[in-house]
Amino acid sequence: MTETIPQLTSYDAPAFEAAFATLADEVRQQSAALTTPEAQENFRLHWLGRKQGRLKLISDAWLKSAPPEARKPLGMRFNQLKQQIEQALEAPTAATATTSAAVQGIDITLPGLTRHPGIPHPLLETMHEVVRVFHHLGYSTNLGPQVESDFYNFEALNFPPNHPARDTQDTLQIAGQQARPSRDRLLMRTHTSPVQIRTMIAQAPPVRIVIPGKVHRNDAADATHSPIFHQIEGLCVDTDITFSDLKGTLDHAMKALFGSAVKTRFFPSFFPFTEPSADVQISCIFCGGTGCRKCKHSGWIELLGCGMVDPAVFASVTEERRKINPDDDAYNPEKISGFAFGMGVERIAMMLHGVSDIGHFYSGDMRFLEQFA
Ligand SMILES: [Zn+2]
Repeated sequence: MTETIPQLTSYDAPAFEAAFATLADEVRQQSAALTTPEAQENFRLHWLGRKQGRLKLISDAWLKSAPPEARKPLGMRFNQLKQQIEQALEAPTAATATTSAAVQGIDITLPGLTRHPGIPHPLLETMHEVVRVFHHLGYSTNLGPQVESDFYNFEALNFPPNHPARDTQDTLQIAGQQARPSRDRLLMRTHTSPVQIRTMIAQAPPVRIVIPGKVHRNDAADATHSPIFHQIEGLCVDTDITFSDLKGTLDHAMKALFGSAVKTRFFPSFFPFTEPSADVQISCIFCGGTGCRKCKHSGWIELLGCGMVDPAVFASVTEERRKINPDDDAYNPEKISGFAFGMGVERIAMMLHGVSDIGHFYSGDMRFLEQFA
């Protein structure tokens, strides 16, 4: 279908009439032959192709030499012609009509329609699993903002300004806040612990919550580190909460997550917001504790940090609560006590699924993600 570009003899109404009548005839004749999807596509390209389409070539040629007053009526004529072409394309071809008839009467020789149902991301699924274990113990879920103030992220959790413990949790600061008091300056939260403070300020004991969420740190990305990762924290505050309750709760949770044969052990550690603090190890889920490559032949894998809530944290909470009620004494450490714990979601997911590089979780690579379907 290669035709030359017709010449427009003059720019008046009779000339337009004749020229467009010829083009409309051309379209009408060709559209009668559109019996297959291929013919339809060829027809579409021939007339409407963006670069070499006949409509474009003709309108370019005619509009270029048209006097200004003829441009508008010419443009309108071209629009009408374009509509005619589009209408011709909308009519069903004989071939498509047959196909739809075949679908209506079921053709069992056709390949089936494959649907790909979505699945939770492995990190989300791991978070759900952990949260579920604590829901069964009567905990509820609390969430908080990722952009957090210095007060909630550090100060209230017993990281005073310039304290060296802040170095381990360097993070992105929101720009342009030098004029604000240091406690109000905003940053990307480095842990989900600020939600502990927000919860205690809003709610008197008893408190039993788990806090899943995204956190940010100035960590160079490697096989086991990422500047953005996920944590789940827990907080329990009530009367007569002891370290035994902490041990019992975490021992139960680890058995629920990794199997009843798993053992736990606690080592002294340090966190500014708990005293005493402990690291928790579980017996290696791969070798059962006899030693293998995954546990570096120690038989144990370190998984959590935890401890009894530091009275200094309760003091910060009380100070905030007294701004609303000056007599508030709900978090008096003489009357209540509590424990907190936290774990990295990626670390657990990597262990459960044998993933060697944390980056796989964020790559969006379907070949990786489909394995969890
Ligand atoms: Zn092992």
